[in-house]
Amino acid sequence: MNSKKLTIAIDGPAAGGKGTVALQLAEALGYLYVDTGAMYRAVALWALRKGIDLDDEENLGKVAQEVEVQFVREEEDGRVHYRVLVNGEDVTTAIRQPEVERGSSLVARFPSVRQVLVEKQRALAANGGVVMEGRDITTVVLPDAEVKLFVTASRAERARRRYEQHRQQGRAVNLAALEADLAERDYRDSHRQVAPLRIPKDAIVIDTTGLSVEETVHAVQRIVRARLERGE
Ligand code: C5P
Repeated sequence: MNSKKLTIAIDGPAAGGKGTVALQLAEALGYLYVDTGAMYRAVALWALRKGIDLDDEENLGKVAQEVEVQFVREEEDGRVHYRVLVNGEDVTTAIRQPEVERGSSLVARFPSVRQVLVEKQRALAANGGVVMEGRDITTVVLPDAEVKLFVTASRAERARRRYEQHRQQGRAVNLAALEADLAERDYRDSHRQVAPLRIPKDAIVIDTTGLSVEETVHAVQRIVRARLERGE
């Protein structure tokens, strides 16, 4: 699309489609893809394993420092995905467990955890050429990103997508329980005191309700290309 290495920041609620959009966009541009949610999940996973209480801010901050997250790009049958390593261990599947998912938004409440992870995220984006997705990327982590997107969908649709993801990975889940979990996480993510999820004025909002993955990705690529060509 463009030869200058840009920084693209994407935020949105859980299962709104931002992960897919971010990954596809990174592939189209030849950029690094960074899933910051995986970093909060990694802290939750490590804390649960060590038996640290998810209300214990001080020790959770220490866990955030101990946890070294790496993203490893892989291609399988022409499809690209990223494996997540924590201190060298492959936790790609482990961090998607419902218990870790719930834990991630609990550990994300604390400044001691956020400060450490935000610093690591900024370091990853320091040289540009990155598509980073999360909840506070457009507002806190990379407020000067050249392109800012907010990707969302209705809660019912998001719950349905999560349900399909779990089922495909062989996990038995209940749709109503998933929707309730999402509602709880949405509330916590947008009402917490530090870096709550919100839409900044200069973000482009993309509602993916009723759109297929291909339609969403095409829509986003059109928008980003237009923005890059206008040099905004
Ligand atoms: O994006 P994902 O659902 O994997 O994120 C897991 C949790 O991590 C979110 O519910 C949110 O509480 C937290 N998070 C955050 N800030 C980010 C990314 C994720 O607080 N930038």
